[in-house]
Amino acid sequence: MNDDTDDRPRVGEGTRAVRAGLPDPVKNEPTMPGPVFAAHFHLPGDVEGPYTYGRDTNPTWTLLERAIGELEAPGEEGVDTVVFASGMAAVSAVLLSQARAGDTVVLPDDGYQALPLVRDQLEAYGVHVRTAPTGGEAQLAVLEGARLLWIESPSNPGLDVCDIRRLVEAAHAGGALVAVDNTLATPLGQRPLALGADFSVASGTKGLTGHGDLLLGYVACRDAALAGRVRQWRKVVGAVPGPMEAWLAHRSLATLQLRTLRQWDNALALAEALTDRADVTGLRYPGLPTDPSHKTATRQMSGYGSVVSFTLPDRAHAERFMSALHLVEDATSFGGVRSTAERRGRWGGDAVPDGFIRFSAGAEDTEDLVADVLRALDRAAAES
Ligand SMILES: *Cc1c(COP(=O)(O)O)cnc(C)c1O
Repeated sequence: MNDDTDDRPRVGEGTRAVRAGLPDPVKNEPTMPGPVFAAHFHLPGDVEGPYTYGRDTNPTWTLLERAIGELEAPGEEGVDTVVFASGMAAVSAVLLSQARAGDTVVLPDDGYQALPLVRDQLEAYGVHVRTAPTGGEAQLAVLEGARLLWIESPSNPGLDVCDIRRLVEAAHAGGALVAVDNTLATPLGQRPLALGADFSVASGTKGLTGHGDLLLGYVACRDAALAGRVRQWRKVVGAVPGPMEAWLAHRSLATLQLRTLRQWDNALALAEALTDRADVTGLRYPGLPTDPSHKTATRQMSGYGSVVSFTLPDRAHAERFMSALHLVEDATSFGGVRSTAERRGRWGGDAVPDGFIRFSAGAEDTEDLVADVLRALDRAAAES
């Protein structure tokens, strides 16, 4: 490979994904080093050098952090990425390391179901919390005097989208920092840092790694001081990913584009197939031209995600649908290569109807997946 950066080719998303974070070639070394299992590293004399103790640093994290940074902000130097043991570890790291007693934080009221738990924690520490829905940039109305704005777009599970650039401009004008939860979109679908956000935060458990076999989270940001506080929070709390998880995650990134493009196609095909069904209401997919999120999503996203949501007439109908599926696993989470779906109301916590289904399109053959879903819908309707 060529060391002259001026000579480096501009590459597409797939090329970037297969190479992301790989070290420069060294003769007789593997192209992608294996996981480094180490609690501590040789450290004679003064405490110096990159690797000292396994809660602070690990060479497998370094490569993964570099890879995620390349995907979140292609071609940009100076993006600092910090990986965590889970998405929630990353979410908490930003909120709890940035907000101080007396500060005001703005959260969405329709975000990930564990956000209200973080809210309770923030309030217990004397942080004021305001909430507003994601859709229609409703958070604009509650920004006054805020220290941090938390955006989740598209929101999970409602799939509402807000104009991130507009919210960032308003937040920055009032002196607030902005974090965007980019889990649903993945860095292939949306680049929060390019839209002006200070932090792009995500669960790597979902579409980023896509195999449903690990938990991971990350925070990417451009400001070294902000990143430093997030990194310090990781050290204090110790929410570090295991080297095996970090390595598996990095390996999964090579297929990010392959997986994601197929999953997005499948999600759109499924949404289109559900459009005219009498038993389906409240169909949401930002990629459908008729969806309320479509216009804003098209302006700021390069793909609409793998999640489709819709509502069946009642709980029993939704349960019949779920058990009639052959190619779709009844499981939570989303973004995996095998389609999953669930009746979301079974968890409590989300404001959704009893028959609400969150469907995550996998990488199956499109016609197989659509046929399975339509057949299960027919079956569920026939038994009612
Ligand atoms: C799953 C999820 C999280 C939490 O991630 P974990 O890896 O499960 O801790 C945060 N935000 C969103 C939008 C999610 O979907």
